[in-house]
Amino acid sequence: MPIQILPARLANQIAAGEVVERPASVVKELVENSIDAGATRIDIDIEKGGSRLIRIRDNGKGIAKDELGLALSRHATSKIASLDDLEAIVSLGFRGEALASISSVSRLTLTSCTEGQTEAWSAYAEGRDMDVQLKPAAHPIGTTLEVLDLFFNTPARRKFLRTEKTEFTHIDELIKRIALSRFDVAITLRHNGKLVRQYRIADNPLQQERRLAAACGPAFLQHALVVELAHGDLKLSGWICSPQGARSQNDIQYCYVNGRMMKDKLINHAIRQAYESSLRSEQYAAYVLYIEVDPHQVDVNVHPAKHEVRFHQARLVHDFIYQALQSALQQGASSDDAPQYQ
Ligand code: ADP
Ligand code: MG
Repeated sequence: MPIQILPARLANQIAAGEVVERPASVVKELVENSIDAGATRIDIDIEKGGSRLIRIRDNGKGIAKDELGLALSRHATSKIASLDDLEAIVSLGFRGEALASISSVSRLTLTSCTEGQTEAWSAYAEGRDMDVQLKPAAHPIGTTLEVLDLFFNTPARRKFLRTEKTEFTHIDELIKRIALSRFDVAITLRHNGKLVRQYRIADNPLQQERRLAAACGPAFLQHALVVELAHGDLKLSGWICSPQGARSQNDIQYCYVNGRMMKDKLINHAIRQAYESSLRSEQYAAYVLYIEVDPHQVDVNVHPAKHEVRFHQARLVHDFIYQALQSALQQGASSDDAPQYQ
C-alpha cells in the first residue's frame, strides 16, 4: 500500500481508542469540560450503563454559535494557545481531542447558549462531520452534550462493553471522584431515569464533611484526621484515616493535584512511608488529599488520560507530603491518648 494520509474520521476513531475506552471515559471528558466552563451545576443522565445514552447538562459559560462546529474538530481548544500555556496548565482539558473523538464513535448532539446570545443552537454529528448542521434550540446559558449509541460504528469496541451494571458502577465511581474534587459544584447522577446520587454544593466545613461521608462512607469520616500544610507555593490539605481506620482494600485513595485526579507513584510512596509500620501488610490507608502546586512546577502532559504528573522538584514534593502526613498521624495518635470525657 502506498503511504497515504488517513481520512479525518478514521484518524479520530484511532485517537478515540486512547481516550474513549468505555462510557465512564466519555463522562469524565464531558464533566471535565463542564468544570472548565465554570459550571456550578452539572446534571448527568445515563441510560443502559451509558451505551444507549450519556447526557451532561451544565450551567457553564456555553459555546458561541459560530464555534460549535470548531468545538467538534480535532485539535481545537479554547484552553491553550501556545507552548507557554502548555507549560502551566490550569484547566482540566487542553488537547482539544475529546469531542472530536467521542463524536467519531457515537451520535453526538451539542446544544449551547452563551450570555451574549438570544437563542441557543444545536450541532449534530454522527461519526464525524466537519460540516455540522446547526439548528436553533431551547437552552438556558450553558451546554448540553448528548451522546447516543456509543461505539455504534465500531462493533469491535462495543463488544468489549461489560454489563449495564458494571459500566454504571464505573461512572458512579468516577462521579464520586469528581464530587470530591469540587465541593463548589452541585452534581446529580441519574440512571435509567432514577436519581442515584445528589451532591449538593458544600461551601462550609460541615457540608464538606457531609459530602465526604456521602462519597467515602461514615466510617472514613469517623477516623479521618485533617491534613493542612503549606510550604511556599506547595500546599497539602484533605483527610487521612488514622491507623485504626485502615481498610482491607485500597478503595478510598483519592489524590488530586491542582484539582486533577491522579494515581501517582511518587505520591503513593510518600503516603505509604508516612504510615510506615502502623499498617499491617494486608491493610490499606484511606485518604482524600489535595495538592496545590505552581502549575509551572508540574507537567500534566505525560499520559493521554492525564492520570500521571511529573513534578519538576519530585524529591521536595515527596518529602513535603511525607512530613505533612506524618505530623497529622502523630497529632492524631496523641489526641487518641488523651482522656476522653463523654
Ligand atoms: P479540550 O477540553 O481539550 O479543549 P474538547 O474536545 O474536550 O477539548 O473540547 C473542545 C472545546 O469545546 C473546549 O476547548 C471548549 O472551548 C469547548 N467546550 C467543550 N465542552 C464545553 C462545555 N461543556 N461548556 C463550554 N465549552 C465547552
Ligand atoms: Mg475536554
